[in-house]
Amino acid sequence: MPRRPVIGITPTPNDVELGHGTFHRYTLADTYTKAIEAAGGLPLIIPPQANALPLLDILDGLLFSGGGDIDPKRYGAETIHPTTYGVDAERDDLELSLLKAALDRDLPIFCICRGIQVLNVALGGDLYQDVADEFGNTIQHRQQVEGIPKEEPGHSVQANADSLLARTYESTEILVNSFHHQAIHTAANGLSVVARSSDGSIEGVEMPDQRWVLGVQWHPEMMFRAHPEHLRPFAALVEASSSVPAVG
Ligand code: MN
Repeated sequence: MPRRPVIGITPTPNDVELGHGTFHRYTLADTYTKAIEAAGGLPLIIPPQANALPLLDILDGLLFSGGGDIDPKRYGAETIHPTTYGVDAERDDLELSLLKAALDRDLPIFCICRGIQVLNVALGGDLYQDVADEFGNTIQHRQQVEGIPKEEPGHSVQANADSLLARTYESTEILVNSFHHQAIHTAANGLSVVARSSDGSIEGVEMPDQRWVLGVQWHPEMMFRAHPEHLRPFAALVEASSSVPAVG
């Protein structure tokens, strides 16, 4: 029996204070690893390091997780919005380099929340630094403000009928959770915008010229247990990753 595809997942760096000192840790909600496991893959967490690219030899696919903001300087912003938080240079370096190299190898890539933003920035696009500033609050993209549980939908998105996203979810209307204050502004060349919320904010992108690349602005890993349709993108990632030819 062939081994299950190995899916590399990027973690979030943060400082954790313990009784014996402060530690810089790489952390990842177990919802990501459980979703990959439930979808039939082998999850592997990839820490920031000087050169992570040799790891691509042992990965069959990649998942770029949610987290803090990308440094706005990475996409040429001249001013930094005061709501910017969680910028981490090592993480930006890791993810931007890993993403470009993975695209060069045509590896399957799933990008969640911060991940869809990293995908756009890696390809030369830019971001709205604060969604509420741009779109107002006709749709609340930070559903915690309304007290909606993380596994429940906060708004819907409309997906293009001919998209990988709509085929994956078997629907053009997808009920999603929402915990972001940034969003794609100008989509980079090579990215197709395939889903938006009703305020016009970009919620889903893909790359038709690649084997399998999907970016979503929501968090299906938090929803897949309560709403099993949200396991489908993970299953599709693992399936696409099982057809990647072995290196060496
Ligand atoms: Mn949203």
